[in-house]
Amino acid sequence: MNTKSQLNKNCIDCKNEFTIDSGDLLLYEKIGLKIPEKCFECRTKQYFIFSIFGKFRKGVSDLSGESLITVFPNNPRYPIYKSHEWWSDDWDPLVFGQDYDSSKSFFTQLKELQEKIPRPHQIGQNNTNCDWSDDVWDSKNCYLTRSVSKCDNLSYCYRILDSKDSFDLVYSFNLENCYDCVGCHNSFNLNFSEKSKDCIDSYFLFDCRNCQNCFMCWNLRNKQFCIKNKQYTREKYLEELKKIKLDSYKNIENLKIEFENILKNEAVHRENFNIKTTNSTGNYLTNCDKCVNTFAWENSQNCRNSLRGLNTKDCIDQGFSWNLELSGNNGIVDGGYQIKHSACSVGRYSEYLDLCKEVEYCFGCVGLRNKKYCILNKQYDKEKYEKLKEKIIADMENREEYGKFFPYSFGTGSYNLTNGIIYFPSTTKEEVLKNGGYWSDEDLSQTNGISSLELPDSILDTEPEISKQALICPETKYRFNISQAEYEFHKRKNFVLPRLHFDLRIMRKMKTMSVIKTYPYKCFYCEKDIEAYYPPEWNYQKIACEECYKQNIA
Ligand SMILES: [Zn+2]
Ligand SMILES: [Zn+2]
Repeated sequence: MNTKSQLNKNCIDCKNEFTIDSGDLLLYEKIGLKIPEKCFECRTKQYFIFSIFGKFRKGVSDLSGESLITVFPNNPRYPIYKSHEWWSDDWDPLVFGQDYDSSKSFFTQLKELQEKIPRPHQIGQNNTNCDWSDDVWDSKNCYLTRSVSKCDNLSYCYRILDSKDSFDLVYSFNLENCYDCVGCHNSFNLNFSEKSKDCIDSYFLFDCRNCQNCFMCWNLRNKQFCIKNKQYTREKYLEELKKIKLDSYKNIENLKIEFENILKNEAVHRENFNIKTTNSTGNYLTNCDKCVNTFAWENSQNCRNSLRGLNTKDCIDQGFSWNLELSGNNGIVDGGYQIKHSACSVGRYSEYLDLCKEVEYCFGCVGLRNKKYCILNKQYDKEKYEKLKEKIIADMENREEYGKFFPYSFGTGSYNLTNGIIYFPSTTKEEVLKNGGYWSDEDLSQTNGISSLELPDSILDTEPEISKQALICPETKYRFNISQAEYEFHKRKNFVLPRLHFDLRIMRKMKTMSVIKTYPYKCFYCEKDIEAYYPPEWNYQKIACEECYKQNIA
């Protein structure tokens, strides 16, 4: 029996050494993938070339001229149709079918095809009044919001499930009437909080569970009326809370600094945030078994080297992917079996798909729906398909193309406006251009408006008309407005109005959820060596191994 050990290689992108372990090798073989030439980070980075965070802009459909709102760039390389038009029978992707030309690189031919095929202006379906949103599913009244499902009345949110009546949430599930939370679950009227669960009517909580009426607390369980982890009586708590001015910008800024210092010096941080997960490594895993080096992933078994997804089995090397089995080397694939080197598609037994839905046995196709045996959007019969596919793979092998993910030049927007930049913020323009990708140098800064820093310190000194005032973010210099709904929400909660542009607010909050690299620490309690997902510059003083965290906190 041939027992496979690990392989050490040098990444062709970043030149760093990386390891492919025996578990990786087994899965590559089982799925039928080549051993990658890029390290985990460089591979994952590339899966995001199709995943646009973007800037919301108005445009028109290239089919009907109907107006639309999209995060896709101005002057894209491809036509844009309104989603309902894209999903209709008003156009036929087979019309763009190409014969394969053996004398030319397959990627070159596939890219020519890609540029003729329209893309739907927005990802998601079954929404009401969610025009100014993207990647939104089964939701109502969402505004300047991305990546949400089953939500109602959200603004400026990112990656949210089953939540409503909230503003400025990131990576949270099941929240209601909440503001400025990241990594929180099952809570009502929770505000300015991080990684807390089952909490009600509270502010500035970190890693609290089942707390009610608490302010500026950390690692608490089942408490009421606490301030800075100190127990108060109900009367005293309410009296103290009245003295805290959440309506004032100066005051909120000081409270945020205080909270930040608590995270550094007082709070105990878990080695990882994996829940109901066994035999796995990575972070933010829920209900996973045998998932290795996998992040922000749920309900999956035997998956590796993947970032942000759910419901997968026996998969490797994927970004933003779900409902998949025996698949790998994919970015944003939303379902299938034996899908390889593909993006934005659902299908089975197929490779090099872009934007295909419910296809089987297709190779190198773009924008197809319910098709079988197609290559470069041309229909073949089974025999001809198999033969041509074999020929193309042989040619691709000769050109060293086969097995690689789509090159950066297939990206649907500038890399600095993709979701990739959230997870890989140090990505440089040089690196992306060198790989044939795109980078936006467009200066979106504006001057016709007042600096948001000129707003009155307290929301109490503002009127609803403020939502008509164009504001300039002091950091990005982007122009933004306080929406009417936002003003009402803040007024009702008596919270300060935001000073930063909404996209920057999302980016900042994602910082703690986007680390996919461990750093060596010693457990604060037992001094055991541990690997934790906290960059040293965050200066967290108390990081605990799983056992000590459970003994002392949970
Ligand atoms: Zn690399
Ligand atoms: Zn320990």
